[in-house]
Amino acid sequence: MKEKLIIYGTGNFGKRLYECLRKFDISVYCFCQTQIENGEDSLYEIPIISLHTLTKISGDKLILIAIENSQVSNYIKTNLMNQFLEDAKIFECGNFIKSNLNSFVLNENQYCLMCNSYIKEFIPSGNEGKIFLEHHIIGGGYRKNCVCPQCNSMDRTRWVLYVLKKYTRIFNEPCRVLHFAPEDGLVRRIQANIQCDYYTCDIESGKAMHVVDVTDIPFRDHVFDYIIINHVLEHIENESLAVSELKRVLKPDGKIILSFPICMNQKTLEDLSIKTKEKRQEIYGQEDHVRLYGYDFKEWLEQYGLKIKVYSPKEELSLEEITRYGLICDDICMVCSF
Ligand SMILES: [Zn+2]
Repeated sequence: MKEKLIIYGTGNFGKRLYECLRKFDISVYCFCQTQIENGEDSLYEIPIISLHTLTKISGDKLILIAIENSQVSNYIKTNLMNQFLEDAKIFECGNFIKSNLNSFVLNENQYCLMCNSYIKEFIPSGNEGKIFLEHHIIGGGYRKNCVCPQCNSMDRTRWVLYVLKKYTRIFNEPCRVLHFAPEDGLVRRIQANIQCDYYTCDIESGKAMHVVDVTDIPFRDHVFDYIIINHVLEHIENESLAVSELKRVLKPDGKIILSFPICMNQKTLEDLSIKTKEKRQEIYGQEDHVRLYGYDFKEWLEQYGLKIKVYSPKEELSLEEITRYGLICDDICMVCSF
């Protein structure tokens, strides 16, 4: 290319455009910003110049405007044309980046295991309450790479899917499954196994096939190969009764797939004298939680005779994969048996 290629814009669009061009070994002469606050800087070791400096660059120029806001982009183009750069080739890349580069560049960055989509980026979500900020609570609190914009799956649900795929035969074999507080994405995936006899349930009506209280499960003894129960037990006062009911309906060689918020800074916190919403909010971080599991969660559950295998992304995947799949690095999903 004989022209000096200049990317106007150093935000996300500018960076994406640069990354795309780099893949084709197209070299960029410099970045440009309308104004530069603290002297001229660099990006990817390429100088960032001001609009003023741009006017002084001699020779043929190709200016690619990479600004997300089309009005601003338009304004810059008009400004460049009017002032001094009639001879430069000037292109607005906003629409081009939106329609091509997002999929081209970012496809390789983020991928949803639940809906098998390449996506631009996961959406932040999660509780920003005081207790979540003060304590490190896995599966709770604010997370940047949380919700898939395609299928709405959450980070922790995608981790459960990973564990189900790798450590169970739930998607491949005839099996009977009981699923509490069923997550949409998992429901779709499990229903795709036509050999699965599948029962979803929730304490609230309208959320699943059956209204079921986990401390009083209306099914016969030893009928389920798998029970999936995520983020439920922290709501249940009589945990012991819940676990004994799960054990009763589970086949002797069945497995329980289990997760809940865990605070790794402290031991499990449970004070059954705490009854008010305000106090529960204060102590457990959520007004309808009745305990906050701590680093001793495994021993805590083993008191009920559960045999527990703990699976965490940081032990299964590289950091790069964890980021690409939008997972929580130290998330925990348990596969339990009796
Ligand atoms: Zn998805």
